[in-house]
Amino acid sequence: RARWRRAVALLREFEEGCATPPARLRQVVDAMVVEMHAGLASDGGSKLKMLLTFVDALPNGYGPPRFLTAALAWNEEGIYYSIDLGGTNFRVLRVEVGSGSVINQKVEQQLIPEELAKGTTEDLFNFVALALKSFLEREDGQDVKKALGFTFSFPVRQNSVSSGSLIRWTKGFSIGDMVGKDVAQCLNDALARCGLDVRVTALVNDTTGTLALGHYYDEDTVAAVIIGSGTNACYIERTDAIIKCQGLLTNSGGMVVNMEWGNFWSSHLPRTPYDISLDDETQNRNDQGFEKMISGMYLGEIARLVLHRMAQESDVFGDASDSLSNPFILSTLFLAAIREDDSPDLSEVRRILQEHLKIPDAPLKTRRLVVKVCDIVTRRAACLAAAGIAGILKKLGRDGSGVASSGGSGRATRGQLRRTAVAIEGGLYQGYPVFREYLDEALVEILGEEVARSVTLRVTEDGSGVGAALLAAVHSSNR
Ligand code: ADP
Repeated sequence: RARWRRAVALLREFEEGCATPPARLRQVVDAMVVEMHAGLASDGGSKLKMLLTFVDALPNGYGPPRFLTAALAWNEEGIYYSIDLGGTNFRVLRVEVGSGSVINQKVEQQLIPEELAKGTTEDLFNFVALALKSFLEREDGQDVKKALGFTFSFPVRQNSVSSGSLIRWTKGFSIGDMVGKDVAQCLNDALARCGLDVRVTALVNDTTGTLALGHYYDEDTVAAVIIGSGTNACYIERTDAIIKCQGLLTNSGGMVVNMEWGNFWSSHLPRTPYDISLDDETQNRNDQGFEKMISGMYLGEIARLVLHRMAQESDVFGDASDSLSNPFILSTLFLAAIREDDSPDLSEVRRILQEHLKIPDAPLKTRRLVVKVCDIVTRRAACLAAAGIAGILKKLGRDGSGVASSGGSGRATRGQLRRTAVAIEGGLYQGYPVFREYLDEALVEILGEEVARSVTLRVTEDGSGVGAALLAAVHSSNR
């Protein structure tokens, strides 16, 4: 009995540590805005890198690609290819562009062999180039444009829209000799080795690709967010607000800024001892603090750490709890399935405990405890992601406060809110409805109902890759 009480006490402690009441979320929003300013002011001024993308025009489906005032030629009809590398999955895409519209698209996806994520640059890029080659051979090779979109979702310091060097790895990748190298060049070399006559014309982050596709469908799209294995966001900033790069001129007066928000940190974030243990287990300790509280790569592991401590300090899992000492044994997919089990006797939870964690016969009250742990982890993640989104809206003056810190006023005319769309993508957001509900609820809590109604979160499909193909098309014409 006393030991059961210990488990419940640990649960309560964890719940309090993870609490995200509106006041705290607003502190996170404000901290995000402060860090955005700092990251735009100078390189190294913040844990938010606020990286330039050199993407200064975005496609839209109804006319020439533009945002703000720019209008560039949009006459590159044809078939474009792109490659999307950046997490668990690797994709090759074929996008058929008609007169300003996507007519057709085809996507092939495969898992990245784990050894490649920690091997050599050459092996990784040979794998990528060969995958494109065999995809091209299977597709009709007609009207293939030489311009390739390359979505590479790690922090990159761009020199132009088609080149940039890797700053560091995240999400479990670590190929030492790659850091500092020009990513597009590495791929171009591999393409040449394979005898392919295509070159990277747009090197983008998954957030930028998603923003491009989001903007293509909806011109009010000002930002994009990814919540998959990792998490990140980008948005359209005015060039004159990018203080660290004075004299930066673009046709549009704006540029997409890749925030690399996974690395955001603030003392207002609700951090628990389990987050510190998780950080200690990772290869990128002290980095990506926000990501480690939010994204698919980590949520299951946070829950596992909590359950493991419960197993050690109470008898709720009986003797058969050894498996809980294995790092990453509880994936976020299982965490989601546990939280979403709505059967009266939690039979899915029983199955997962039994089959995957080798914990047979957990009584109902123990299964409920496990559900609660998964719920707390999910809720905190979704609320923090919502606070991040609200931070971007606030920076853009679109949070309804009417205080524009860059961009124009959030209100088009007095009393009337301007419509704002945010493109959003990633397995966690798309595949886990409870996560989405919590995120939506938290946005309403932070922004208020009226402002939240003016904000549309729009899921794009394969935006990171399709958007990159569209950007390759846009940029093939100004080379
Ligand atoms: P990546 O970010 O690696 O390119 P995805 O966007 O598909 O790929 O995201 C994969 C991540 O999303 C995984 O870490 C997984 O934990 C999470 N995920 C995918 N589907 C679901 C789901 N149905 N429920 C919860 N999490 C999911």
